[in-house]
Amino acid sequence: MQKVIGFIGLGNVGYPLAKNILSSGYDLHVTDLESKKAKELISSGAMWCNNAKQVTESSDIIITSLPNVKAVAEVAESEYGILQVQSEDKIWVDMSTSDSNEIIRLSKLANKQGFRMLEAPVTGGVPLAHQGEITILVGGDKSTYQETSPILKSMGKKIIHVGAIGTASVMKVITNLLAFNHLWALGEAMTLGNKSGIDNKILLDSILSSSGSSFVTETEGPKILDGTYDYGFTMALALKDLDLGSKLGQRLNVPLEMTENVREKFLEAINTYGSEEWSTKVVKLLEDQTGTRLQS
Ligand code: NAD
Repeated sequence: MQKVIGFIGLGNVGYPLAKNILSSGYDLHVTDLESKKAKELISSGAMWCNNAKQVTESSDIIITSLPNVKAVAEVAESEYGILQVQSEDKIWVDMSTSDSNEIIRLSKLANKQGFRMLEAPVTGGVPLAHQGEITILVGGDKSTYQETSPILKSMGKKIIHVGAIGTASVMKVITNLLAFNHLWALGEAMTLGNKSGIDNKILLDSILSSSGSSFVTETEGPKILDGTYDYGFTMALALKDLDLGSKLGQRLNVPLEMTENVREKFLEAINTYGSEEWSTKVVKLLEDQTGTRLQS
């Protein structure tokens, strides 16, 4: 019999992930703090549940896509949480970007309640999530990964089993540290070019066709140029990832000087523009500081 999939957290990236599961023909049971986020999914056949516990009771595989460690712990452990259910071999897949130690802690609690747990953070951004082409990094038992593979494939293109539970969260944080360093470097490069009198469009086009290009230049460069800064990822989430990375560096005694500088820039951007602004807008700090405009 077809498995019922539960999905908790229908935000910027969770919504398209859930939508792709539904479009692949699975029964989908959903919840979010804001019921309006489920409206279109429900009109396409998904079932609304009032809380995470209801989702868990009625589903075989439960997926979470939540903003931070605190929200995941709440959805797991609160009175109406996932772990209030005594599972007969249900699988919980946390797709949030999280802290590896916290994932390990929750997986132990989940195992006690009869769940198997995977972490499956995603990378690539909201547009790729809509296209079903996001990359999914999986941590946890290999056979559980193989069992959930058809569902993961309904959401993502490249799926990598990184290793034991906790390893995918580390991998995800590492990839985001690189992305934010690239973003700040792109901002510096564009500001320098602009100040030299080069047209912004030609500037970006040249970088995109050069050895200095990157995934961030391809995806976020156009969002700087069009002035929306909208790649679907908030400053709050960016700072969360940078904090996780910073903690990891301290734990493992690895100096992360460049990343710490960029983290400071995000703190400044949050103070200046607000935590719910798009993360790409961090480069506006350079625009404001130098009196340049990088739009075209
Ligand atoms: P978001 O803030 O847009 O969405 C989070 C959703 O969770 C919201 O709809 C919110 O209402 C819901 N929520 C929060 N607490 C809840 C609770 N207690 N019960 C039920 N629902 C609750 O975040 P997002 O951008 O969708 O990101 C989700 C996760 O994916 C985050 O961990 C983020 O770091 C990660 N991620 C996001 C992107 C991206 O481009 N947006 C890319 C990669 C990874």
